Amino acid sequence: MRKARNVSPTPARERALRRLEDLCREHGERLTRPRRAVLATLLSARRPLSAYELLDLLRAEDGKSTAASVYRTLDFLRALGIVHRLESTRSFVLCEHLEGPHWVQFLICRRCGQVVEAEDERIAAATERLGQRLGFALDQRIVELTGVCEGCRASAACHWRPGAR
Ligand SMILES: [Zn+2]
Ligand SMILES: [Zn+2]
Repeated sequence: MRKARNVSPTPARERALRRLEDLCREHGERLTRPRRAVLATLLSARRPLSAYELLDLLRAEDGKSTAASVYRTLDFLRALGIVHRLESTRSFVLCEHLEGPHWVQFLICRRCGQVVEAEDERIAAATERLGQRLGFALDQRIVELTGVCEGCRASAACHWRPGAR
């Protein structure tokens, strides 16, 4: 039997690329190779990447990427709401909702670096009310929470529980 290489696009990859294509068209922009490459790299990383990690991965594929082009592309993808920047870890992660700009909450695992994007409208509304109450016109309402994810907690429990196999 022929060994199949895993080249079939995953649904997430398809969805993200299609969304980016649509958004580019709506904004009269082109889906250039660097834009597509940054998106594909973030997708396959499955974790947040710093701009320099991203640059290293892109250079491994194509020596032409520069820090300036990566930052430009990330700015573009953030403006379209396809990529979020995590302020606490200065890294970039692909949006899990792909619905244009929105205010979400990130749960960030300190052990494995995994990030979960949650969309709790009550929290988004509460931050808006807080801003109004204190006289702030907020331009950033993303909430970042850190802790230890379920998987890391389970594996820690396995290692630590006396008598566990
Ligand atoms: Zn998002
Ligand atoms: Zn974890």
